[in-house]
Parts: sequence; structure tokens; C-alpha cells
Amino acid sequence: MPAQEEAGQQNKTEDSTPVVDDGTSRIIQVPESLIDQVIGQDHAVEVIRKAAIQRRHVMMIGTPGTGKSMLAKAMAELLPKEEMQDILVYPNSEDSNEPIIRTVKSGRGKEIVTAHKTEARKKAQLRNTLIMILMLGIIGYSFITYQWLMGIIAAAFVFMALRYATPREEQMVPKLLVSHDKTTTAPFVDATGSHAGALLGDVRHDPFQSGGLETPAHDRVEAGAIHRAHKGVLFIDEINTLGLAAQQSLLTAMQEGEFSITGQSERSSGAMVRTEPVPCDFVMVAAGNLDAIEGMHPALRSRIRGNGYEVYMEDTMPDNPENQEKFIRFIAQEIKNDGMIPHFDRSAIEEVLHEARRRSNRKGHLTLRLRDMGGLIRVAGDLARQESSELTTRVHVIEAKKTARSIEDQISAQVIKRTREYDLAVVEGTQIGRVNGLAVMGSDAGSVLPIMAAITPAQGDGGEIIATGLLKEIAQESIKNVGAILKRFTGKDIRNIDIHIQFIGTYQGVEGDSASVTVATAAISALEQIPVRQDIAMTGSLSVRGDVLPIGGVTYKIEAAAKAGIKKIIIPKANLEDVLIEEEYKSMVEIIPVTSIEEVLDIALVPEDRDTFLHRIKSITHATTKSILGS
Ligand code: ADP
Repeated sequence: MPAQEEAGQQNKTEDSTPVVDDGTSRIIQVPESLIDQVIGQDHAVEVIRKAAIQRRHVMMIGTPGTGKSMLAKAMAELLPKEEMQDILVYPNSEDSNEPIIRTVKSGRGKEIVTAHKTEARKKAQLRNTLIMILMLGIIGYSFITYQWLMGIIAAAFVFMALRYATPREEQMVPKLLVSHDKTTTAPFVDATGSHAGALLGDVRHDPFQSGGLETPAHDRVEAGAIHRAHKGVLFIDEINTLGLAAQQSLLTAMQEGEFSITGQSERSSGAMVRTEPVPCDFVMVAAGNLDAIEGMHPALRSRIRGNGYEVYMEDTMPDNPENQEKFIRFIAQEIKNDGMIPHFDRSAIEEVLHEARRRSNRKGHLTLRLRDMGGLIRVAGDLARQESSELTTRVHVIEAKKTARSIEDQISAQVIKRTREYDLAVVEGTQIGRVNGLAVMGSDAGSVLPIMAAITPAQGDGGEIIATGLLKEIAQESIKNVGAILKRFTGKDIRNIDIHIQFIGTYQGVEGDSASVTVATAAISALEQIPVRQDIAMTGSLSVRGDVLPIGGVTYKIEAAAKAGIKKIIIPKANLEDVLIEEEYKSMVEIIPVTSIEEVLDIALVPEDRDTFLHRIKSITHATTKSILGS
């Protein structure tokens, strides 16, 4: 093919209209198959391809919105559609409570039911004609012989006998339990959050169980998700929320490849009915985040491990040209799937990429929490559409970021506003034992977290550090490590005192150890009675030796501090490259990277008292180390 023609080919969209490369998302070609649309999850994609060929189960563990259900759907596309079957349920004349199950090639089910219905209609018509003739005969005879009363009684008797004593033809028509279109792909059934009936099938209750008004048992049988997923994929997210009994039944279904349907509510008439085994030869894709594994029935997990694969989903991908290209394709995909929003121009694409870097919370990476990114793309596109703009631009994306904020971020903004109203946020002056720390709520909402320390005479054995403010395990442990720092740095005998640390306004609890620098500074300030500057906020984890170690969410923390009116922010030096704050905050704050607690104290403590103290700790730390090592 000549080079020119080849270039022309590349620049063609789905409807094969040649498009000029104008740097917009318009020129990007979106792959047809779902599996090729998945980005950044190369390992998971490889596993799904393999599992589809071998018909193996898969468990996917990872953060929500990283593509687990998308991969499960993609797997259904990869399964052979020739194998698909329709499932029919027939009445059983020998035991009406055990309806008969039959499978036929996909598409045939509908034909069979239609044929039965036509047949039944014909039979019913014939019967009704016979009844009419017989009744007319009897009435005619009684009219001729003047036996009116006898005639009417006999006619009614014949009518009742014929109408109700013989089975109604419609009642004998089979029910199509599971059906497929011949052309569609193998089924993908999402059974997330299903109750037992929806998952395993059910038999409806019949209020009139006899007397000719009843609905026949087979007609009340309803297929479960496991049956609808026959020869396809059964997807269950948050697998741990499924009850243990349901997980046990699921396991049986997976082992046997068939599962009888019975009424799920014990006292209903449906519970008397139990069908012949109904095929349910599905491939299971179970998903969840890490705690899903704990809530999972051990036998079910081992079944998946023994007969399938376990995949851990990626949260981020390296920020290199190849992945940027993939990310841009993701933007084009979301635009195409939405179908309504205008394409993104170069500036909008750049802004989305910038946001993906910020949200990755990791230097040199792009986030793969793409459901949220998709949300942002749609909101930006909607804004452009409202303005009847031909393209979505950077301005729309920036505006969308303000609208499409997480609940946590919105709460955090309200908390900041309220604490400011009540003057709880102290962002100027100096105070002893009070330090502005920083925290993250959810995944993208920073907040200023003040920490107070106070010294009291010892209550118990003495020398205890007591922390309050709903601290979780790691936060508690980090407080203990601070104890080591205090011993080393203050040189004071803390046996006669207790140090109380209070985290202010932590209604959601404190996780992680990113406040340990703040705690140490507050405690040292209280112990040494040296005031702390309140226009400074800090975050960082502390080693027992006093090194400041990296923490997560640094960008969101800095932005929250800036919003609260803080001027200087101390962060671990190792996090410096993770800082991707928005343009508007850049001039508002000074970011100070540090590597040790000494540097933190040097910056945060008030100079007059600080210098003598810092001078003293240097000699103390040297002396202690020497005396411990005995040299
Ligand atoms: P999960 O099941 O992990 O919560 P989903 O598969 O439901 O996430 O993802 C929701 C949407 O986000 C998808 O429909 C798709 O538009 C987008 N998405 C998520 N992950 C990816 C990915 N790895 N590649 C492309 N798009 C993705």
C-alpha cells in the first residue's frame, strides 16, 4: 500500500470518514472488542484471555472502578457463542412438583414455545367448539321434549365437566427459562448484590393451589443468575457480601454444573416444587477489594484457586508516552460510549492527563481508577455541550473538576468552612503544644488536622503517651514510636509525667502514620514549653531514629492547607515529586521538604527558644548514642 494511503487509513474513524489530525480526540480509533479497550491492566487482560480459552474461573481483587466488571464482560465476548443453549421447563404429568428440564440449541427455545402455543390454541378451539355443539344439542333436545329444567342442568354439568375436568391446554405449554438470540455473544450476568432467589432461581408462590385457578408449577419456575449465565460468565462483585449459605450453593452449582430450582421462601407453595437439575455451566468472575478475600467461603476461594486464576488489579501505570497514548485512547472511548459529548481538544486532553497524574498519588504515574476519570470526562463534555461548544476544552475540564468532586471532598470543604466560622482553625501566631497536621479523607479529600499535646502528672506507671481521637492500629503504633523520639530528643525524665495527645475533629478516625511528625512536634513543644508557629502545617511519617519518611495524599493535603489559610507546609523530601497541586494554590503556599525531625523543629518552633533547645538536643543525642554503644 502506498505510504500516503496508509496514513489516510490510520486517520480514519469508525464510520471511515477521513479525519485530519487536529490534535483532538476525534482522530483516535477505538478498538471494536471490549478486551482491547481495557487499558493499564495488561496482566489481567492476559489472564482473562487465557481463562476464556480454558474456561477457568477468575478472581479479581482491586480498587473499585479499575475495570473488573469490564474485563468480565470482555471475557463473555471471548467465549464461543456456538455452545450457547436455551433452557425450557415442561410440566411433569407424573409428579407436578418436579417439572422437567430440557435444553436445546440457542434460538430454538422460542420456536418450540411458539409451536406449543399454536397447538394449544388449536386444541382449545376444537374443545370449545365441541362443548358448544353438545350444549346446543342438549338445549335443543330439552326444547323439543319440553324438559326445560333438566336441559339447563345437564348443559351446565357438561360445560363444567369439559371445562375443568380435562387439563387446560395452555397449562401444558413449556416455559422458556433461559433464552438467547442466535447472534449475541455468550451471556454476561452481573449477580452483584443478588439475594438467594435471584442468584439460584426461585419458584413463585401460588395463592390458589387448586380448583382449576392455580398456575401450574412449571410456569412459576424462575431462572437464577447462575442459570442465565449458562455457557457464559457469572460476575459477582463484592463477593464477601454474599451470605455463606448462598456461597455454599454457588460452590455446589460450580462443581455440578447444574442446580435444581426450588422455592426459596420456606412457607410458600413454591418450596414444594423442585425441578429436575437445571444446567448452569458458567465461568465465574468474582471480584472485590482486599477484604473480600476474608469474607469469602474458604471452599469457594479454594475452588477458584484450584480451577482458575487470581489477579490483583493495578491502581496506577507509569507515566510514559506509550501509556499517555493509551490514556488518550481511553478518553476517546468514553466519548464514543457516551455518544453525546463533544470531542476533547488538545488542551482538554492535557488537563485530563494532569488530573490523572494528580489522582495517582504517586510520582511518575497515571491513575487507573478510570470509572471516576470517566465521570470527569462526561461532566466536562456535558458542560461543553450545554454551551453548544464544538469541542470540549481545558476550561470545561477545570470547571468539571469543581463539579465532579467526591463526597469526601465536599464534606472536607464544609468542615474547613465551618471550622473557620468558629475560629477553630488557627493559622497565625504561636502556641505551645499545638501543631497543624494534615490528613486525607477517602482518596482525594485533604483536611487540616490540628493536634494538641499536654503534660500531666503521671497516673499509672508514668511515662505514658495517651492519644485520643479515634486512632486506628497503625496510628496507635506510630504514637509509640514517637515515644522513642521523645526519650532521645528531650533528655527529660518522663517517668513522672503522662503526655496526652489529642487529635481534633477526627470523627472518621485516624488511619496510617502520616501524623507522627506532627505528634512528635506537639509533644516536644509541650514538654519543652517552646511555642509552635501556627502558620505552618506539616505531614510526614517518623522513623524511631528521627528520619522523616514519605506519606500518601501529599497533593490533597497541601491544597487543603492552602484553602485553610496556612502559609508554609512541611512535607517529607521523598514526596516532593508527588506534589501536583493546582495552579491557583501555587502562589498561596511555600512547600518545605525535609528529611529529619530536627529540620521540622528548626522550622516550626519559635526561634528564641528553639536555638538553645536544638543546640541542647544535638549534644544529648550524641551523648546518649555514645553511652548506649559504650564508646
Ligand atoms: P470495577 O468493576 O473495577 O469497579 P468497572 O469495570 O465497572 O470497574 O469500570 C467502570 C467503567 O470505567 C468502565 O465501564 C470503563 O468505562 C471505565 N474503566 C475502568 N477501568 C478501565 C480500564 N482498565 N480500561 C478502560 N476503561 C476502564
